[in-house]
Amino acid sequence: MTKLKFAENLSYLGTESAFEVLARANQLALSGRDIINLGIGQPDFSTPPHIVEAAIKALRDGHHGYTPATGIPELRAAIGRDLNRRHNVEVNTEQIVVVPGGKPTLFFAMLMFGQKGSEIMYPNPGFPIYESMINFSRAKPVPIALQEENGFAFSAESVLEQISEDTSLIIVNSPANPTGGVTPRQELDKLAEGLMAYPHVTVLSDEIYSCMLYEGREHVSFLHYPQLRDRVIVLDGWSKTYAMTGWRIGYAVWPTSCIDFVTRLCINDHSCVNAAAQYAAIAALEHSQDDVQRMVSQFDARRRIIVDGLNRIKGIYCADAAGAFYVFPNIEGTGMTSRQFQNRLLEEMGVATVAGTSFGAWGEGFVRFSYANSADNIEKALQRISSLLD
Ligand code: PLP
Repeated sequence: MTKLKFAENLSYLGTESAFEVLARANQLALSGRDIINLGIGQPDFSTPPHIVEAAIKALRDGHHGYTPATGIPELRAAIGRDLNRRHNVEVNTEQIVVVPGGKPTLFFAMLMFGQKGSEIMYPNPGFPIYESMINFSRAKPVPIALQEENGFAFSAESVLEQISEDTSLIIVNSPANPTGGVTPRQELDKLAEGLMAYPHVTVLSDEIYSCMLYEGREHVSFLHYPQLRDRVIVLDGWSKTYAMTGWRIGYAVWPTSCIDFVTRLCINDHSCVNAAAQYAAIAALEHSQDDVQRMVSQFDARRRIIVDGLNRIKGIYCADAAGAFYVFPNIEGTGMTSRQFQNRLLEEMGVATVAGTSFGAWGEGFVRFSYANSADNIEKALQRISSLLD
């Protein structure tokens, strides 16, 4: 009888329930049910045509071999110019590492900073991969509890007071998944200032939704704090901003002292990112940003529909969410747990959402709705939710 000797760490690896919900929603759709998917976190728009054309051209021009492990120089230079345009900061292109999506940067940071005996802080509710990877690394996960009454922004004070001698990494995410929360500048300033007392702590700022802000809110990148540059990792990418989730390309700006390790991880893990995707990524950054603005203004219109609509339904309260493409309403008034709400809404009414508990224990009583779907479908989903609760 076979008896495989799996590594112990594997038993600590979590998952992302949004993919399970998607699989169940697809199964129901295949069986003939009319399913509205407000579960998955990906833009429903197509990648803009000029980006697709740039990838096709790259392949026709013969760019089908390995590239430098950290990305082609033209792309790293284009990222540097983009960061300067958006955040008004100068970044040394040697510190930019292109990887296959947003997730590899998280994975690498956890491999570099997580081990038995170290503590890693992370937002809860938050992107589930944070907690999963911290557990996998065997570091102790220390949740930063995000509260509805603060618009799901983190408070610098609550982060700083949890730092210990063993804290190796703090993960922050604004605009945030799953809440749409945006942390205001004064909290970021306070955190940056407070961190000066803890020179052993690195920050991983996940800014993958940095272009998706509403109601005049501003994005404050962690690149804005020169005093922290030697210990800040800023994660960003194309998946959400340019509707490129399936292309698998993203990047991070790393402290100079990390570059050698990150490069080795890239070489050991994936060699390099698909060459055509890198040329497409240059086109995305260098071309006019009109497509991004068009998508963001459509997300904004849908956001208003879903926030207003949910707040009209008895038992639900939806706080305003100023970023990303998620809302995270409180469903305690329905008498259901998050998981019951998610399951009943999908199985009985054909609306896919993700239970708040999929994003950590602090998500109980909440459900994530992604509004990356048409306004018509969102209206239809709102009617179905009303009927379930009636
Ligand atoms: N970070 C956050 C907060 C996310 O929500 C996601 C994707 O949903 C990622 C990172 C990963 O992005 P990618 O699909 O590019 O790996």
